[in-house]
Amino acid sequence: MICDICRSREAEVFQPHSGRKLCRKCFIEDIRERVKREAEKIGLDKGGKILLAVSGGKDSYVLADTLASFIDHDRLIAYNIVEGIHGYNRKEHVEQLKKFLDGLGIELIEDSFEKSIGYSLDEMVKSAIEKGLNVSACTFCGGFRRKLINNAGRIVNADYVATGHNLDDEVQAIIINLIRGDIIRLVRLGDKPIKLSSKFVLRVKPLRKIYEWETTMYAYYKGYNFQETECPYISMRPTLRAKVRDLLYSLESIKPGTLLNIIEEFDKIAERVRKETNLKEELPTCKICGEPTSYGREICKNCELLIRAGLLNVDSAVLQNLK
Ligand SMILES: [Zn+2]
Ligand SMILES: [Zn+2]
Repeated sequence: MICDICRSREAEVFQPHSGRKLCRKCFIEDIRERVKREAEKIGLDKGGKILLAVSGGKDSYVLADTLASFIDHDRLIAYNIVEGIHGYNRKEHVEQLKKFLDGLGIELIEDSFEKSIGYSLDEMVKSAIEKGLNVSACTFCGGFRRKLINNAGRIVNADYVATGHNLDDEVQAIIINLIRGDIIRLVRLGDKPIKLSSKFVLRVKPLRKIYEWETTMYAYYKGYNFQETECPYISMRPTLRAKVRDLLYSLESIKPGTLLNIIEEFDKIAERVRKETNLKEELPTCKICGEPTSYGREICKNCELLIRAGLLNVDSAVLQNLK
């Protein structure tokens, strides 16, 4: 079997959405090209500093490698957070990630929940359980990760924060927010980032049109030593996402390219909704930590979680407001 692109090397990968058989080299090139196209659409190629939010998982390796293939390395800086999950966060994973980024000429900033929030994720979850809170570990983790990543972007004066979300992640998020009817979240998932607070650094997702199986294959071909252990809190994850994921997989297998079609059509809809919805209004800031929070809130979700878990002491007036 000969590669459909170069017509010289042996094909190794079949790409169902394009119907092509590709050799290793052309496959890698195809991914880089598609990431570049997405990055150009957002303006990442034009200049500015980009903070790469990395985790040590395969997608963060692919994110750094594809961006470094066409963006000047001086404009890239990586940021990693150790959540503090027993048996999951290992020292050697950060060391491997650092070595890999060193090789690309990208500096890595190392952070942890313990250092920046005062508690590891395990400690937050333990306190929440003791207080009888029905909040999953992923709620704590996702909220604080977003906050710390944005903070880091501001500290290094980044113009963009890039995350490694792939096509599967994005389409799942689109469907979930559609089911929930969350228009603001939904529109923010479009290809053009919107800034709802001057305190936000623009978030971009250069891998948003790359299938998860493709990032896996890319990481495998490149021989990355990425973090493969599954997070022990995965069983606490909301079941809706798992159901949506299964549904999307079955649609994709019946009609390859479905996920790409969904995201492309969604981007057009998001653009129109953005034009017709007044999203100009600046988000309010949290009275405790000063970070942006949702419309109508006085205290951000993160601070509220810490208060409810008994990890942040505030006066009774604030507590009264939460009740
Ligand atoms: Zn080829
Ligand atoms: Zn807050």
